[in-house]
Amino acid sequence: MLRLALMLPLIVAAPGPDAGRPVAVVVESTLPTSGGEIRQQAFDGDPDSAYESARPPREGDAVTLAFDAPVLVRSVEVRASGLDGGTLEGAEDGATFAPLAEFREGVAKAEPGKTLKAVRVVPAKDATEPIAIREFLVESDPGLRRFEFPVEFVVDEVDDPALKDWADRAARECERAYDLIAHALRSDGYRPAKVVRMSLKDGIDVPAYASGDRVTGSTKWFRDHPDDVGAMVHEAAHVVQRYRSRRNPGWLVEGVADYVRFVLYEPENIGGINADRARYDQSYRVTARFLGYIVEKHDPDFVLKLNRAMREGKYSDDIFKESTGKTMEELGAEWKESLKG
Ligand SMILES: [Zn+2]
Repeated sequence: MLRLALMLPLIVAAPGPDAGRPVAVVVESTLPTSGGEIRQQAFDGDPDSAYESARPPREGDAVTLAFDAPVLVRSVEVRASGLDGGTLEGAEDGATFAPLAEFREGVAKAEPGKTLKAVRVVPAKDATEPIAIREFLVESDPGLRRFEFPVEFVVDEVDDPALKDWADRAARECERAYDLIAHALRSDGYRPAKVVRMSLKDGIDVPAYASGDRVTGSTKWFRDHPDDVGAMVHEAAHVVQRYRSRRNPGWLVEGVADYVRFVLYEPENIGGINADRARYDQSYRVTARFLGYIVEKHDPDFVLKLNRAMREGKYSDDIFKESTGKTMEELGAEWKESLKG
């Protein structure tokens, strides 16, 4: 017993695998967004961009920066317009807010020195102008992860009203996944769409599809498969890919989208594979596994290079040999062999 008592503090003190890693956040607002001045721009590290509301605030409105995990907040500063006389507040449990500071001349600043789960701004009761939040500046331990590729998914048409909440949840989840997608598919000079529209329609014979900056899902599919939010993440990957070239093989276009979905976003859901029948050009999640194999065994930047070539209309099968020293067919055979091992 004595030994156990001595051991416990050591176990508790040992840093976990997530220690020091930035904590993800969500920007929530009860106010509608003004055009492209989206919520995530209030936490993108860019003082020139802002979140702007489409209307003046009313009683009960707030903009909240919610953390995925509690962090020790040393200081928090918010730069904004339309908020003078309003308050900056913090919540230890993420729900019960207490005032930290008042807005004066466009700034509210506090040094809470406390573990918080969220901070929010509450406009003054007599506010008459729409608000604009340039940035939440938070010094904390661990740090918070800023949005590298800010985005907003706007749900604009849902044929089945019972699915409206589902669509809103899927939109929030795609916003959360967007940095992962856009970072995996980044290329010099390319900025992915900042506003993506989402609709759910009757009479669609696939689960979902993407076209330009819009993703459309089937009401029937998502009524029957409410857990399949990853299908919308796959479509979000197509929005980010924005390939236009006819040279791109369809199986690779789908393979890259499913690489993002099943290798990076939800690897726990990729499912099993038939090692005897698998072909590298089988598309979707089978090709996603093949790409994951190349990334792991041959070239960590392979998907970046492949994505860039497809985006810029420069794809040819030679990219496999240029990146790995082996042809596509040789890699396919090697990968298939590895599945049996
Ligand atoms: Zn697809």
